[in-house]
Amino acid sequence: MKDVKTYTPPDFHVIRDPDRCIKCKACVEQCSFDATFYDEEEDKIWNWDAKCVGCNRCAAFCPTEAITIENRTSPYRINESWGKWNVVGVKKRAAFGGAPVVSMGADKPYIVYWDHMLINASQVTNPSIDPLREPMELKTFLGKKVDHLEIENGKLKTALSPQLEIELPIMFAAMSYGALNYNVIEAIGRAALELGTYFNSGEGGLHKDHYKFKGNIIVQVASGRFGVHKEYLDVASAIEIKIGQGAKPGIGGHLPGEKVTASIAQTRMIPKGTDALSPAPHHDIYSIEDLRELIFALKEATEYKKPIFVKIACVHNIAAIASGVAQAGADVIVLDGFKGGTGASPQVIRDNVGLPIELGLASVDDRLRQEGLRGKISLIASGGIRNSMDVVKAIALGADAVYIGTATLIAIGCTMCQQCHTGRCAWGIATQDPFLSKRQNPNIAAQRLVNLVNVWGLEIKETLGAMGINSIESLKGNRLALRGFDLNEKEMEILGILHAGE
Ligand code: SF4
Ligand code: SF4
Repeated sequence: MKDVKTYTPPDFHVIRDPDRCIKCKACVEQCSFDATFYDEEEDKIWNWDAKCVGCNRCAAFCPTEAITIENRTSPYRINESWGKWNVVGVKKRAAFGGAPVVSMGADKPYIVYWDHMLINASQVTNPSIDPLREPMELKTFLGKKVDHLEIENGKLKTALSPQLEIELPIMFAAMSYGALNYNVIEAIGRAALELGTYFNSGEGGLHKDHYKFKGNIIVQVASGRFGVHKEYLDVASAIEIKIGQGAKPGIGGHLPGEKVTASIAQTRMIPKGTDALSPAPHHDIYSIEDLRELIFALKEATEYKKPIFVKIACVHNIAAIASGVAQAGADVIVLDGFKGGTGASPQVIRDNVGLPIELGLASVDDRLRQEGLRGKISLIASGGIRNSMDVVKAIALGADAVYIGTATLIAIGCTMCQQCHTGRCAWGIATQDPFLSKRQNPNIAAQRLVNLVNVWGLEIKETLGAMGINSIESLKGNRLALRGFDLNEKEMEILGILHAGE
């Protein structure tokens, strides 16, 4: 019997049309949350709304379109202050005695600044460019830049720092083996190889089979140091020190023991079935000087041949922190905004801590320019990049390139059901269950990723052409290319853009 005091109304309603249903049981087989099941005695298929997470796997596989998943509106009499989120939040905590863990990006309806910026175009005085007829350059180099080049007898004398060369300014964000399964990492690796870009291993080490993607790998060194060893560093083209993650600034990582299979245990170098807990801080970093030591330890270990990235979550004093990171010797700063994804995070942190990437990026770019550091370091924006125009706007605000994470998963089937932390992903992405993992075919998934990024590339070229620009480099930090609307003066001041109409 239900505990009436803890009862919370379901979020979804599973509707099965009896006139269309042929009882094939495809929905029963596809549902990994037991929200639909077959009763043999009654020869009937039942729904259990309370278990439905809205992943829509059943609807996608129903051959007769008999199933519809509907959002249930809140049956509570809500008011401004006590909406469903707060009422259910109190009930859940009171019932279970623990803080809810959630996944994917922040739920709350905070402003999305990308959607309050418009892009400029050429008219009359500066002709637009047709990218189908004229060359258009999206190639990007990431790494420390020099102030000037010395050339002697036609040869370059200045020693250059190691650079990553990417065909277009989009890379696959850090998502670990553990959060994602083998097939998904395989697909992302294949896509990065075909696209001439990079994927990031995340903090879970890299399965030996994926070393074959050498030349397209960025590896992460996080506070837990999972899977970090000489070969892991050697196989990478760049190394990223993860200080923070936009979806959960100030919080470490947590991969529950049940997801730590034999293969993940071996890759992470931990016992099978144990929780993989990465501490909130690096226990050897308590200052910019400590960070500098780790940066140079990694440079030493890799003979100064690889750029060192430092990933920080956007927080209130992000500009000062980024300045410190630049002065500590990082080659690339990764700024991660609070709309970024996560495999698991305490709900209160995901929904309340951090800053949107748009504001973080603009303020960091400004500060680095003021201090004369911007030309010496590359900036990557991540956490909330949803489409090609977000990429264009991020570059106009000052980024050299972007990382995409959530968009990567959506491209291969994710429906944003926010159940990654349960390990029961019905689309076979955020799960280690062998039965569910088979739902991802690396060939098909890789092709979808290649399609997505290539289309974004075309859209970016088309937009640059409309602006009369023939190289992504010319857009970088060009905030005159943007205009804001529905924003207050302070927001536009931080973004460094004019209002639409100005
Ligand atoms: S998948 Fe569709 S047709 Fe098959 S049992 Fe479920 S609702 Fe009926
Ligand atoms: S990865 Fe899977 S579990 Fe996570 S949000 Fe997407 S569909 Fe849901």
